[in-house]
Amino acid sequence: MTEKIDPKIEGATDPIAFQTEVKQLLNILIHSLYTEREIFLRELISNASDALTQMSFLQQTERDVLDPETELEIRLTVDEDEKTITISDTGVGMTREEMRTNLGTIAQSGARAFLQAVEDENADASDVIGQFGVGFYSVFMAAEWVKVVSRSYRPDAEAASWYATGSDTFQMGEAEKETRGTTITVKLEEDAEEFAQEHRVRQIIKRHSDYVAYPIYVGDEDEQANRQKAIWRQRSHEVEAEEYADFYKQLTLDFQDPLTHIHFVADAPLKIFALLYFPTKVDRGMFTLREEDGLKLYTRKILIEEYTRDLLPPYYRFVQGAVDAEDLPLNVSRENVQANALMARLKKILNNQVTRKLEMMAQKEPEDYVTFWEEFGQFIKEGVASDDADRGNLYPLLRFHSTTHPAEWFSLVDYIERMGAGQEKIYYILGDDARSVSRSPHLDYFRTHDYEVITLTDPVDSFMLMGLREYQEFELQNVAASDLELPAPKEGEEEGEADEEPEAEKLSESDLDSLVERFQTTLGDRVSAVRVTDRLTSSVARLVDPEGAIGQEMQRVYRMMDREYHVPAKVLELNPQHPILGKLGTLPEDDHLAQAIIDQIYESALLIEGVHPDPADMIPRIQELMEAALGE
Ligand code: ADP
Ligand code: MG
Repeated sequence: MTEKIDPKIEGATDPIAFQTEVKQLLNILIHSLYTEREIFLRELISNASDALTQMSFLQQTERDVLDPETELEIRLTVDEDEKTITISDTGVGMTREEMRTNLGTIAQSGARAFLQAVEDENADASDVIGQFGVGFYSVFMAAEWVKVVSRSYRPDAEAASWYATGSDTFQMGEAEKETRGTTITVKLEEDAEEFAQEHRVRQIIKRHSDYVAYPIYVGDEDEQANRQKAIWRQRSHEVEAEEYADFYKQLTLDFQDPLTHIHFVADAPLKIFALLYFPTKVDRGMFTLREEDGLKLYTRKILIEEYTRDLLPPYYRFVQGAVDAEDLPLNVSRENVQANALMARLKKILNNQVTRKLEMMAQKEPEDYVTFWEEFGQFIKEGVASDDADRGNLYPLLRFHSTTHPAEWFSLVDYIERMGAGQEKIYYILGDDARSVSRSPHLDYFRTHDYEVITLTDPVDSFMLMGLREYQEFELQNVAASDLELPAPKEGEEEGEADEEPEAEKLSESDLDSLVERFQTTLGDRVSAVRVTDRLTSSVARLVDPEGAIGQEMQRVYRMMDREYHVPAKVLELNPQHPILGKLGTLPEDDHLAQAIIDQIYESALLIEGVHPDPADMIPRIQELMEAALGE
């Protein structure tokens, strides 16, 4: 007969109030319905594992610890009759004071973020709870009461106990425990009995805690319930595709499989095991386990740092995974990791691995690469903009759309291969979206002569261009630049061909001059100049930057960084071939309609440039023009 477990603890104190945030959290946990309650076991096991990791560190440095020979392990036992489950570890344990603080307040980011999420999003706690690590307190999703008995590794510390039912208070007391570590007994609620069954417990361990780095035993069996073996230290042919995906999901709590992974083992110059993943989506949900960027860094299977950002350049921060470097000294303090010279070499190696993997993917699995590009292209562009040393390696990874290939993602190499013999530059146009770009007057000539122009409509493109001025000796050229030298018409095209352009009233030299002047007077200092151009075919006019102005890329960069930024007045260029201008030239000087048309030509050009401050402003004028067209 099993002895009945008495929830009361020896020498219990008066009830002690939980911190307000804990009360809030408990309140949510107790009053919601959960489908994934089982995660409380994952949380308790992960705390045990953390305590064991701390112990393994201490064993390197401290001589005077309790039970130095004890195996680092986790053991779960159940009592089906009593409906209890017990989790014990041989980790660092807690003193009475540590218990009071650690189990009475929220320090950990998970629970705070959870509270924040429930508050901000007005989210239903029960929807998100299963996806969310809320730490120790998640045990109250399934517990009637919880009792923690712990003994610190410090040889002179006494064992102590802690007891709570999920109400606003807890109690502390004495305890008899000879061995180092923590034992948590959970009395399960009636509808949570399933967790008092060994087979169910094993199942949960497999699902959530398979890769915990210490052996987990269930009941009194000697066989481990978890795989434990660090998957990154296995050989890749020993690991099944499914195991790779499982590990990724346990690591990140991402619901989706990763897009791909790199499993990299090297002996020289450094002994490294690395298992890196590319997620499928940038946003792995707000409830991902990985709350910060960075890789898990181990040395000889011992976790040194949870979020190590110095192992990859910042633009590869989407990469997830674990790196195990044998040669990092174990006693390197976590703060010292960054300063370690090995880290720089490690970073270089890993950086190359990621870039190479992306190159290979682009070559061998172009469809996967497109999936990657559409989600993560912005990171690569950021790298081009920011990484002086390595940006060249990123150029081949860039993908673009263009005027002639609007739906296809192609590389700069593809573009260059399509360039005709006479083309010496890589042409691009900047804009806010593909549709307005496609109507741009800057494309008139390129459209007529069938030159391909790369369309850049992503806000980060302007930044990217600062780090991409040429590729394979071909300069990148903005087609909107006023000093642009046009490429020759392609061979086979007849030069000077007027196509089917209607023979409009041809303006004489002097008519043209007075028309330009009329534009100037009407528009005043809204433009820096007005002039005639031969660049346009189907468009009436276009706006270009005055000579010496900062380039369009920089203007856009400024505009993004400073809302107050004023686009400098531009030069209005007119197409003398255009029938509208021909007719306009024949209207009398003071014609009211002519003024309206000039204003409209200018504002249409602003609009197409994406710099019109308020397009709705044009409506009264358009109405006026319509009325005039209909002849009153
Ligand atoms: P987190 O693990 O994110 O710190 P938890 O709510 O899971 O937050 O745990 C709170 C704290 O309680 C831990 O940081 C740790 O100090 C302490 N703790 C919980 N379980 C154990 C354990 N098994 N051994 C030692 N300390 C523990
Ligand atoms: Mg925890």
